[in-house]
Amino acid sequence: MAKQYDCIIIGAGPAGLGAALYASRDRFRTLVLEKFMPGGQINNTDRIENYPGFEQIDGPGLIGRMQKQVEGFGAEIKNGSEVTRLEKLANGDIAVHCDKDVYISRAVILAPGSDYRKLGVPGEEEFRNAGAGVSYCGTCDAPFFRGKEVLAVGGGNSSLEETLHLAKFAGKVTLIHRRDEFRATKILVEELLQKVNEPNSNIRIKYSTVATAIQGDGKVQSARLKNVKTALEEDFACDGVFIFIGMVPNTGFLKGFVGLTDNGFIKCDCAYLRTNVPGVFVAGDCRIGAAMQLATAVADGVNAAMMLKQYFRDPNWWNEAISDALGPGGW
Ligand code: NAP
Repeated sequence: MAKQYDCIIIGAGPAGLGAALYASRDRFRTLVLEKFMPGGQINNTDRIENYPGFEQIDGPGLIGRMQKQVEGFGAEIKNGSEVTRLEKLANGDIAVHCDKDVYISRAVILAPGSDYRKLGVPGEEEFRNAGAGVSYCGTCDAPFFRGKEVLAVGGGNSSLEETLHLAKFAGKVTLIHRRDEFRATKILVEELLQKVNEPNSNIRIKYSTVATAIQGDGKVQSARLKNVKTALEEDFACDGVFIFIGMVPNTGFLKGFVGLTDNGFIKCDCAYLRTNVPGVFVAGDCRIGAAMQLATAVADGVNAAMMLKQYFRDPNWWNEAISDALGPGGW
């Protein structure tokens, strides 16, 4: 018989663990199903300085603490449990199907996070592992490129942070960005430009430049670059290409179950994090309107777990408009 829970959380990243902390402290029978191992994207970060209370901590270190904390309050975490499908049952419960197992819960919090966006250029798939030269994680793979020439792609926070990290290992890092202005937060842009302007800096920036192909023989040897303003092209010799161009939500398994936007983000009311399926909340990077920050992902998880109580108390609350749904302190 399928095991019964009060709250099943899908994904053990910061959002899922934030939810698990609150749900388990409310003594709800709480299960966290995780496709791989706890952490998600944050495991790829070796330097977090914008999580309140920690001047600096590495991603795996912070996740390890979160995991220990939630397990201490009784939440169960199952690693290697990929959810394939959800099903709303006639009694209002939700069946959560994994490859082999099925779990039943009164409510579900979706926190599957997001995955690396791909460039979609020739050679990207062929060389897609650090050994061959294409990587999406500088924190993980930078040591393989000690003293080598690498290309980094992107203009957001990740690309700047990762470029700074790569520069500690690589002989030279060239960051290309498709526009002439970074999307990243100003403090990171300032830090990067300061490094670029240092004497003998090993970081260079090429603005208004895209990669149109990654080339090599068994391993990356060059990338085809194009300046989008001048249309000039060049073969840029390099040993590795690091792609940091954002994330796409891990919501393929939810198609047909909850409302999704065209690009896969889960639709919800952003105040109480209700999806269009009663009893199914969402938290973190995979939802519309997410700020994509560690702290906001955790906050989402907490918020969704707080709202469980309101739903359990009165299932009809699900359909109430936001302004009427819950007064301050209503939970
Ligand atoms: P992001 O903010 O979405 O930035 C993606 C970058 O890649 C943008 O500069 C974008 O260019 C570029 N890009 C997108 N598609 C491209 C393509 N096909 N070819 C070339 N360039 C492409 O993604 P992110 O940097 O991974 O960050 C994701 C979220 O996590 C963001 O909200 C970010 O603030 C957050 N984050 C925060 C921190 C921190 O606070 N320390 C660290 C990492 C990430 P355009 O600018 O031209 O669109």
